[in-house]
Amino acid sequence: FLLLAIYGTSYAQTKKYLDPTKPTEERISLLMKEMTLEEKVGQMNQYNGSWDVTGPKPESGSNEEKYNNIKKGWVGSMLTVRGVKEVRAVQKIAVEETRLGIPLLFGFDVIHGYKTLNPIPLAEAASWDLEAIKNSAGVAALEASASGLNWTFAPNVDISNDARWGRVMEGAGEDPYLGSKIATARVKGFQGERFDHTKIIACAKHFAGYGFVEAGRDYNSVDMSNSKLYNTVLPPFKAASDAGIRTFMNSFNTLNGIPATGNVFLQRDILKGSWGFKGFVVSDWASIAEMITHGYAADRADAAKKAALAGSDMDMESNIYVTELAKLVKNGSVKESVIDDAVRRILRVKFELGLFDDPYKYCDEAREKSDIGSKANNDDVLDMAKKSIVLLKNDKNLLPLKKSGAKIALIGALANDKNSPLGSWRIAADDNTAVSVLEGMQQYKNSALVYEKGTDVATNKQSFLDEVKVNTTDFSGFEAAKKAAKEAEIVVMVLGEIGFQSGEARSRTELALPGNQQQLLEEVYKVNPNIVLVLNNGRPLSIPWAAEHIPAIVEAWQLGTQSGNAIAQVLYGDYNPSGKLPMSFPRNVGQCPIYYNLYNTGRPTDKDNNVFWSHYSDVEKTPLYPFGYGLSYTSFDYKNLKISKPSFQKGEKIEISVDVANTGKFDGKEIVQLYINDPVASIARPVKELKGFELIELKKGETKTVQFILTDKELGFYDNDGKFLVEPGQFNIMAGWNSNNGLTGKFELK
Ligand code: BGC
Repeated sequence: FLLLAIYGTSYAQTKKYLDPTKPTEERISLLMKEMTLEEKVGQMNQYNGSWDVTGPKPESGSNEEKYNNIKKGWVGSMLTVRGVKEVRAVQKIAVEETRLGIPLLFGFDVIHGYKTLNPIPLAEAASWDLEAIKNSAGVAALEASASGLNWTFAPNVDISNDARWGRVMEGAGEDPYLGSKIATARVKGFQGERFDHTKIIACAKHFAGYGFVEAGRDYNSVDMSNSKLYNTVLPPFKAASDAGIRTFMNSFNTLNGIPATGNVFLQRDILKGSWGFKGFVVSDWASIAEMITHGYAADRADAAKKAALAGSDMDMESNIYVTELAKLVKNGSVKESVIDDAVRRILRVKFELGLFDDPYKYCDEAREKSDIGSKANNDDVLDMAKKSIVLLKNDKNLLPLKKSGAKIALIGALANDKNSPLGSWRIAADDNTAVSVLEGMQQYKNSALVYEKGTDVATNKQSFLDEVKVNTTDFSGFEAAKKAAKEAEIVVMVLGEIGFQSGEARSRTELALPGNQQQLLEEVYKVNPNIVLVLNNGRPLSIPWAAEHIPAIVEAWQLGTQSGNAIAQVLYGDYNPSGKLPMSFPRNVGQCPIYYNLYNTGRPTDKDNNVFWSHYSDVEKTPLYPFGYGLSYTSFDYKNLKISKPSFQKGEKIEISVDVANTGKFDGKEIVQLYINDPVASIARPVKELKGFELIELKKGETKTVQFILTDKELGFYDNDGKFLVEPGQFNIMAGWNSNNGLTGKFELK
C-alpha cells in the first residue's frame, strides 16, 4: 500500500492532471496542454475491437493499424471489446504504453440487457412502468460494467410510427410524451446518480429523425417539417439531455438533404447550442465516411471537415479523423479550437467516470463472476417481461387457463424456440438461452400439455448476419398439429417473427404472420376454435383475421431470457397483464404509417372530433389496435372526470381528476391515460396528444381517484422556427383506457 501511495504521488506530481483534488475542468486543461495535435485527434477516434488483442498480434491490415494506433495514443475509445481480461489488456496498452496514459472508453450495444436479456425496448415500453424500465436499464448496466464496459450505445429514443422499419424494436414506439418519460428512465437506470462502478454512460441515439426514414426503409432519407422535428422527434432527445446523459450518437440518415452527421443545425445549434449539452457526440458506424456516398462530401478530407465542424466529436469506425483531421488543422481548413472543444468533451466524460483515478475501475474479475447472469438479475428481467405483455383480446374468458385438468395443445415453432425471444441486439448473450414457452408451461405440472410444432417460421439458421428465409412450402407438420388441437380442450398457438426479423437492416414490406403461419392458424381453427394466440414479434403485426376470429390474443413481443416463464405466468393467471401498446397496430401494411396523434384533414371529423375522414376505400380507417390499448383479466370503469375550473390563465396549473374502479373479478393494474387536443392553433395540432399517464393498482371492487396536472409545458407546442408557443383558446381533454376511448371534457385557456 505504501509503495502504491508513493508511486501514486510521484505519478500525480509529474502528471498534474492525475491529481483528483483538482476540479475537472482544470484537470482537462492541464492534460490538453501536454497533448500534441495528433494525440488530441486520437481522442476523437473510435475503433471496433473484434480481434483478440490479448492473443497473438494481428498479422497485417487494418487490425494491425488499430493496434499500433492505440500505442501511439491515437485512439480514444474501443467498441465491442468485452470481458474483463480483454478490456484490461487493451486498457493497459492505453494507460501504460502511451505517452500520456489516457484511458479508453469501452462502448458496447447494450440495447436490452447484456447477458441476461430484458425484453426488447419496444416491449418494455408497453409496460409504461417507468420504475421497472429504469431498474431494467440498471440490471443491464450492472452486467455490462461487470464485463469491463463503461459505455452503452443506448437508449435508442427514435420515435417511429412505421412498423415496416425494423428498428422500431429498439425504441419506445410512436409517442413523444411516453418516449420522453422512458428516455429519462433509461438514462437514469444506466447512469445512476453518480458513476459508481456498476453504472455506465448512456448514449441517446440516433440524432435525429432516423425513425422517419421514408416508408420504413432502413438507412433511407428523412424529409420533415421543423414543427414535426421539434414536436415529435426531438422531445425524447431533449429529455435524455435534461436527465444528464453524457453522449449522443448521430444518425445514418439525411435530414432535409443534410446528413445528420454533418448537420450543424442539429448538433451545433440545437444540441450544443439551445440545449447546452456538455457531453460528446459519437458518429454512427462509419457515418462520417457515408457522407461521401450520400453525395454531401467530396472525399475523406471533406467528410472529416464537415463532420468536425458540425460537432461530430468522435468518429466511430470511419478511420477518417485519425488520417485527415490533423492535416486539415495544419492547412487551416479546420481551426484547432474545433478539435479542442471535441477533445474537452470526450475527456470530461472520462474524468467524470473516474477513469483517470482508476482506469481499471470496471475490471473486476470477482464481479464478472457474481454479477453476470445472477439469480437476482433473472428475477428482475422476469418481472420486466411480465409487465411488458399486452392482452389484446379475451373473449369467452379463455384466459387465464385452468391450472389443472384442462388438456392443452401447444402449437407453433416459436413455442419451442429458445433463440427468438432474445430478439435482435444481444451480442453478449449465448444463443438459445431463453426459457421457451414450452418450458415455461411445463412447470405448471397439473395440465395435460401436448406440443406440436405445426410449421417452421424460417428455413435457415437464425443469425444476426443472414436474412431470415421464411418457410412457405413445407406444410408437413400441419396434420399432427391439427390432430393435437382436435384432441385438446384449449389450443395455445405461439406465432410471429423470428428474433432476427426485426432490428437494424430488417425492414419488412409485409406485416402479416410470416411464412405459412396464418394458414396453420386457420387450419387449426377449423378443428378447434378455442385458441389462445400468443404473438412473438419485434414490431406491430397486422393480424385482422386473428383479431376477428381468435377468441384470445396475447402480445408477448420478444421478452428476453425469461420469456417462457413470463408468458406461462400470464397464461395461467399468476400474473394479471397490464401492458398497453406503445405503437398502433395496422390492419394491413398499406395503412403504414399509422398513428394516433395525426392531424385532421379539411374534411369533417366525426362527432367526437377525433377520427380523421381521410382513408382508403378498401379498409377501415382506424388501426386494428390503437396506441395505448390493452386489456386485463379484470375490467376498469371510468367516472367523474373533473377539471378544477372551466377557465385558466396561462401559467396556472390545471388540475384534472378521474375515478377509476376495478369492476371485475381480479386484482389488477391499469394505465390511466390523459390526452389533450388544441382545436385551433397557429399551426394545426394533432387530433390527440398524450400528456399524462399513471399506473395504478386496484384490488377487486376498489376505486381510486387519479389526478393529473397540466401546465404550459403540456399545452404548448413548437412552431417551425423552434419557438415554444402557448396559445389561448379552448382545449379538449380525454382521460381513459387508450387513445381511442375515454371520458371527455374541455377548458378554456385565457
Ligand atoms: C447502429 C448503431 C450501433 C452501432 C454500433 C450501427 O450500425 O446504427 O445503433 O450503436 O452500429 O454497433
